[in-house]
Amino acid sequence: MTTREECLELDAKDPLSSLRSEFSLADGELYLDGNSLGPISKSARAAVDRVLGEWQGELIRSWNLFGWMDTPLKLGDRIAPFIGAKPGEIVVADTLTFAIAKLTLAALEQRPDRHVILTDEMNFHTDIYILDAVANYAGRPITVKTIDRNDLAQHLNDDVALVEFTHVDFRTGEALDVTSITRQVHDAGALMLWDFAHTTGALPVDVTAANVDFAAGCGYKYLNAGPGSPAYMYVRAEWQDKVNNPLPGWLGHARPFDFEIKYEATEGIRKFVTSSPSILALAALDGALEVFEKTTMTEVRKKSLALTDLFINLVEERLPGQFKVVTPSDHAKRGSQVALAHPEAYGVVQALIKRGVTGDFRAPDIARFGFTPLYLRYVDVYDSVEHLVQVMQNNEHQADEFKVRNAVT
Ligand SMILES: *Cc1c(COP(=O)(O)O)cnc(C)c1O
Repeated sequence: MTTREECLELDAKDPLSSLRSEFSLADGELYLDGNSLGPISKSARAAVDRVLGEWQGELIRSWNLFGWMDTPLKLGDRIAPFIGAKPGEIVVADTLTFAIAKLTLAALEQRPDRHVILTDEMNFHTDIYILDAVANYAGRPITVKTIDRNDLAQHLNDDVALVEFTHVDFRTGEALDVTSITRQVHDAGALMLWDFAHTTGALPVDVTAANVDFAAGCGYKYLNAGPGSPAYMYVRAEWQDKVNNPLPGWLGHARPFDFEIKYEATEGIRKFVTSSPSILALAALDGALEVFEKTTMTEVRKKSLALTDLFINLVEERLPGQFKVVTPSDHAKRGSQVALAHPEAYGVVQALIKRGVTGDFRAPDIARFGFTPLYLRYVDVYDSVEHLVQVMQNNEHQADEFKVRNAVT
């Protein structure tokens, strides 16, 4: 049996322990939902404050004085190491659904003789909605097939233009093999678009080594950049001269302030900028990244695996047979969350929230817990499982008040 004292010892030895104080988290806040909305850091708040001051003091002059126009690229370069990208391959813009739309149409144009997009039937719904919708704008008939991702090989053929998968399954926390899947897709002559919503800031990947064509990720989950924070788009350097932004706007023009009638794309990743960058939201991202820059993704990953191992072990030790751990035990296949299946998972999550342990529920039967190494302590994992034990012992999850679901689960 793992004890609370052992967890306190792990915290004392933890090289990341000092980073918790970068956030303004109350001591009793057991926050296992940083995979849905990361918390505010002191540096994010300070960066937003600084930009508010720039805006207040210098008004429109700020665009030039503070280099606001280049912020989407500068932040992209700071995200690059998280996924193994090179400078100039990432731009921060739009939100993730829009980013996927743009990259999908850009990719389809590069495979004009092919008519199929493959995606995962277990994908996050927005990915499937937007793939279905943009397929109508490709200028030729496109079929979007939702497949069992384990059967990818049998669906790949010379009519497949693009495969779009999410790297870490948002329900189960299973992480797919970026390198082997990308290789398989390329061997069939198709292109690969990865959704890194549950990857970026949680576990390292290497898009350069894996030869990934396109990718996109989220700012408000593990990157802690705030609600509705912009997403990022990755376009491999080799593609940048060939691809077009399917939603061109003035800020992707070679000379936006010449006000020319005819669109001419600027060079490099900047062409994927459509409209004015959300400077206040980017400021929060700027500040949020400062915390990551005090450590490395290798350290983050090491602790993430230790935290998820601890949680799984404690649940199995203390609640034997009560939950099915859906998340893979194999480290190579695990993201940074743990999913527990239980027929009354909604009530379980609500009862935990009432006790100050925040996780979330994902239909039909998953209680989902995110583990974010920058601010979570080992003892937080212990205390969360202790609350879970209490909930189950007292049948708190069966309370009448949890029979009707909230709008956001
Ligand atoms: C969170 C998430 C999104 C969210 O998209 P937004 O457009 O930024 O709201 C998209 N895809 C996946 C896999 C996600 O987890």
